[in-house]
Amino acid sequence: MNELAINGGKPVRKTLLPYATQSIDENDINEVVKVLRGSWLTTGPAVKAFEEKLCDYTGAKYAVAVNTGTAALHAASAALGIGPGDEVIVPAISFVASSNCILYQGATPVFADLDPVTLTIAPDDVARKLTPRTKAIVAVDYAGQPCNYDALDQIAREHGIPVIEDGAHSLGAAYNGRKVGTLEDLTILSFHPVKHITTAEGGAILTDSLERCQKMRSFRHHGIDLDLHARGSTNSWIYDVVRLGYNYRIPDTSCALGISQLDKANIWLERRREIAELYSRLLADLPMLQLPQEAPGCNSAWHLYVVRLNLDKIRVGRAEVFAALRAENIGVNVHYIPIPWMTLYQNLGYRKGQWPVAEHEYERLLSLPMYPGMSDSDVEDVVLACRKIYAAFRK
Ligand SMILES: *Cc1c(COP(=O)(O)O)cnc(C)c1O
Repeated sequence: MNELAINGGKPVRKTLLPYATQSIDENDINEVVKVLRGSWLTTGPAVKAFEEKLCDYTGAKYAVAVNTGTAALHAASAALGIGPGDEVIVPAISFVASSNCILYQGATPVFADLDPVTLTIAPDDVARKLTPRTKAIVAVDYAGQPCNYDALDQIAREHGIPVIEDGAHSLGAAYNGRKVGTLEDLTILSFHPVKHITTAEGGAILTDSLERCQKMRSFRHHGIDLDLHARGSTNSWIYDVVRLGYNYRIPDTSCALGISQLDKANIWLERRREIAELYSRLLADLPMLQLPQEAPGCNSAWHLYVVRLNLDKIRVGRAEVFAALRAENIGVNVHYIPIPWMTLYQNLGYRKGQWPVAEHEYERLLSLPMYPGMSDSDVEDVVLACRKIYAAFRK
């Protein structure tokens, strides 16, 4: 048991425990099959029904479903009129889509550092990075925990700029008792298989603004004027394109899956919380790890369980711990490499070394497996593997 698998010992698990995966049941399958047997494949009644159900679940007034979370970010950026010459403040650590959407619009992402406790965007650094050209803030609910919106809202209000909440990790989370989807001007969701609910690929934007909702509905459908379309569609060939749009439509098959998935969102949220609590209890005494904590007022949706390695307690770095855990068949991951470190961003002129918290914390981040289908014994395997590795690498 004590020889590390990476050195030829027996791994803790026979097969790989993934860091995340979807949960699909018979109802999900039946609902998709029903659409396949019907007459609509792409935009039909399931899209509208899914959007209404997202509004019911989150409390948002309007939802616009699109074919990826990335498209949702793009639509949100366009709806705010972000364009060339504008700057948008984005956290230095997120999935790259959070800032690519700013580049799509020809604007400039300005990266802000992170809060060292929560690893969400640091409001004081946002304040430092504001200029007269700042057009919006993208706030990412990293790992499922809402950002410090009291502080961010104050900055946004003082400067008259909107906040896009990247809620790809935080469907079902709450901040000061208010649900994600009702907190900011625009909230985007992702329904990629590792997220809280899945449509295979898919995303949505939530908003209380009818005007922005209509812009985004048109944006996902080539920029076509949907009022004209609605008035004339049955008996006319007339349509008009009033803005540059894309084909970001989500099919009915995906939305049928999404509707069925959303029925389980609360049960899964509860299970994620149980898993997080079990990890936190079983790992509390392991000196190698700093465990994640919920910030005051935050109800995390626990998309990820991100630990940080206390590198002063072990003789190796994160890469060795990562490889050793993978060899034990524990599918750990790292969320994420700082966005400005990417070659694309380096080629745009961003330079390393300007986000002390993000760049320091990145070196010790590790995401342990977390998804609602995990059993307690899966969690115990992860804990066992962490203990085994600490025993081998401790100082
Ligand atoms: C998953 C994710 C997205 C969107 O991803 P898609 O794969 O396009 O649905 C955006 N932001 C963050 C932080 C994400 O994790």
